[in-house]
Amino acid sequence: MTVSMPLALGAALPPLRILIVDDDVSTIRILAQVVREMGDVSFATNGMEAVAMARTELPDLVLLDAEMEGMDGFATCAALYAMPGMENVPILFITSHRGVEIELKALAAGAVDFINKPFHPHIVQARVRTHLTLKRRTDALTRLATMDGLTGIPNRRAFDQSLAQELRRLGRRTGSLSLVLIDVDHFKRYNDFYGHPAGDDCLRAVAAALAGSVRRAGELAARYGGEEFAILLPGSDMNAAIGLAEKMRSCIVGLRLAHAARPDGAHVTISAGAATLGPAQQGEGAALIGAADQALYRAKAAGRNRVLHADDAA
Ligand code: GH3
Ligand code: MG
Ligand code: MG
Ligand code: MG
Repeated sequence: MTVSMPLALGAALPPLRILIVDDDVSTIRILAQVVREMGDVSFATNGMEAVAMARTELPDLVLLDAEMEGMDGFATCAALYAMPGMENVPILFITSHRGVEIELKALAAGAVDFINKPFHPHIVQARVRTHLTLKRRTDALTRLATMDGLTGIPNRRAFDQSLAQELRRLGRRTGSLSLVLIDVDHFKRYNDFYGHPAGDDCLRAVAAALAGSVRRAGELAARYGGEEFAILLPGSDMNAAIGLAEKMRSCIVGLRLAHAARPDGAHVTISAGAATLGPAQQGEGAALIGAADQALYRAKAAGRNRVLHADDAA
């Protein structure tokens, strides 16, 4: 999973991606012509190719031929819906077979709609338009539910979901899982001195810098609450987590956000506490958070603007 920055309100929406899967190239050509005004069209001539393409870039809608050599439409549909991120993507079957049975089979496989060949272009357009509109709405609601309204980065709910998912993966795979909890130093004084709106701007700037520092697939920077942020780092061991947290700390120092009200310096800083679950180590989310929180507490007590790890000698 890559961390995508949520769209700002009013930003132009990116074009929707329509994937056409059919083993008959002339059908692909006609369908592409029919839906070309509705989005960016790509195509695959077999199920394996369709799955590979969806893995590279998630489509927003799939037009899927039921009868294909090798992996048929039903198997392709099942494989597509088994992929993370595909659950909200509508798949519409297109088939020359008529009958209740095949239509029921398509719907049972998770298809949202069923179009008969030979198709009428306007019917295809109308159905595709309906499902693309619903897809846009689902995406917008998903964004609202998982994004923090102030900073535009993932919220606590998104973090909780990702943490649960990564903990489940940890049981199955080798590799560590690290968590970094970050708290803005002397932020109450910042608010008192500069005012709450300026405090909000400061949180936005800090959030953007933190989100910009996580790049690897699966890594997540979320607003945990108030002036606290949580960074989830699948695959990072203790040293990697400390390294990234240290990079974030110096990145915030580098922003040089004025903070004239703090007792010990002129700029906004953060403190960070990290904790790591090693390969095959089973762990509770609450314990990992607790360990990172204690390290954060020690970082505060030791003078702030620093990174400490739970497994550092205290
Ligand atoms: P420490 O260095 O020990 O972390 O001190 P602190 O002042 O940052 O800690 P404290 O938890 O006392 O203060 C957190 C402050 O964060 C208090 C609260 O007003 C502010 N805050 C929390 N959420 C928001 C927000 O959404 N916007 C603004 N502007 N301030 C917020
Ligand atoms: Mg076919
Ligand atoms: Mg705090
Ligand atoms: Mg604070």
